[in-house]
Amino acid sequence: MPAYDPENIFAKILRGEIPATRVYEDDETLAFMDIMPRADGHLLVIPKTPCRNVLDASPEQLAAVMNTVQKLSHAVMKAFGAEGVTIQQFNEAAGGQEVFHMHFHVLPRHEGDRLRPPGQMGDMQEIAAHAEKIRAALA
Ligand code: 5GP
Repeated sequence: MPAYDPENIFAKILRGEIPATRVYEDDETLAFMDIMPRADGHLLVIPKTPCRNVLDASPEQLAAVMNTVQKLSHAVMKAFGAEGVTIQQFNEAAGGQEVFHMHFHVLPRHEGDRLRPPGQMGDMQEIAAHAEKIRAALA
């Protein structure tokens, strides 16, 4: 497996070098909105420490991230009146991974809805409004 590349886009977000719409953070993890949301409220949870994905993550990184994934899953259920949550996670290019800092997708779902296709840039004002709903649900 290749080494962790500190120039990946999520490492830059963690260092504050590029902007992100942050919704939650604690000592070990950060949650922020996906810029190409496949559902309203689509967010990403990452560890603050480096690892490419599940294959090289430590048990401590996995535990911290899953704790935040659960917290944010409850928050999006409340924020969007969702009926379910889809959690997605990809490992290495062959596994569908595009950004090589471990991340979990959290997607609020409603009965019968369909995820939007990947790769479509979201409306930043809408994303900001969705983030505000999530922050309010966490408060
Ligand atoms: P994956 O590696 O899980 O296949 O996909 C990476 C995810 O990161 C995609 O859902 C994509 O929309 C999202 N993404 C890529 N670049 C950025 C970025 O600069 N900012 C944010 N917030 N999300 C990004």
